[in-house]
Amino acid sequence: MAQLVPYDDRDGQIWLNGEFVEWRDAKVHVLTHGLHYGSSVFEGERCYAGRIFKSAEHSQRLIDSGRILGFEVPYTVAELDAAKAATVARMGFKDCYVRPLAWRGSEQMGVSASQSRINVAIAVWEWGAYYSDLRLTRAIYDRPAPNTAPVHAKAAGLYMICTVCKHAAEAKGFGDALMLDYRGYLAETTGANLFLVVDGQIHTPTPDCFLNGITRRTVIDLARRRGITVTERHIKPEELRDAQEVFVTGTAAEITAVRQIDELNYQHGPITGQLIDDYHGLTRGHAKAA
Ligand code: PMP
Repeated sequence: MAQLVPYDDRDGQIWLNGEFVEWRDAKVHVLTHGLHYGSSVFEGERCYAGRIFKSAEHSQRLIDSGRILGFEVPYTVAELDAAKAATVARMGFKDCYVRPLAWRGSEQMGVSASQSRINVAIAVWEWGAYYSDLRLTRAIYDRPAPNTAPVHAKAAGLYMICTVCKHAAEAKGFGDALMLDYRGYLAETTGANLFLVVDGQIHTPTPDCFLNGITRRTVIDLARRRGITVTERHIKPEELRDAQEVFVTGTAAEITAVRQIDELNYQHGPITGQLIDDYHGLTRGHAKAA
């Protein structure tokens, strides 16, 4: 296995509460509410040719996620956008991943922490393809019901079950886990939304208990512009047998063809290929046009 370079031991700078600090000095105390109680929200974004794709939408989602958890991110969308752009520029990257994070600090311990400071950090790094030759297996946990968790926030706490599911899938030799929802319908992977191509039409689960990804919405738009019918509905796992193509979408994953789901195999088909080309054009074209 290749030597891992820990994320806390790298060169560069990180934006922390309004100023740049040396990468290795961007630290929190062990008694931090976000660490103990999961009071933390984050974003994942990609910068293409020097421009962050849909930056304002991500900044708005960070603010919205904080509000769902009951706190106010202390920056506006414009301030977050400027800070992200400044961090990318400071690191000198053209193509990179952007990770804003907001969390409750160390002022209070215990479940209640309404007086704690809200901290914000932005780190960027070079990150290649998230998935390669993607093969999925049924997850060991389901997505929780919307009345049991803040399912529409991109909240760190929701990823606890994702990490457990992904580790279980990897232990079986798969790339990721395919999570069902609390009703037994198809939901998503641990970090990307799911699409099926059935007889030339696209079907995708209704995002009523998981993140309605920014990439998901972009891809639905691109498909409709190509004249492809897209239906958002509840989809049963048995329907995977009817699909000719399956793909997932996410900022990190972009559009990735799924090659296998347990005993089912899929081709990297023409509709997935077309959408990958269109998404590539949009993300890079967007960079050129702006
Ligand atoms: N679902 C989950 C659980 C995710 O982590 C992500 C990645 N943020 C997505 C879906 C896709 O969201 P987006 O397209 O906005 O990156």
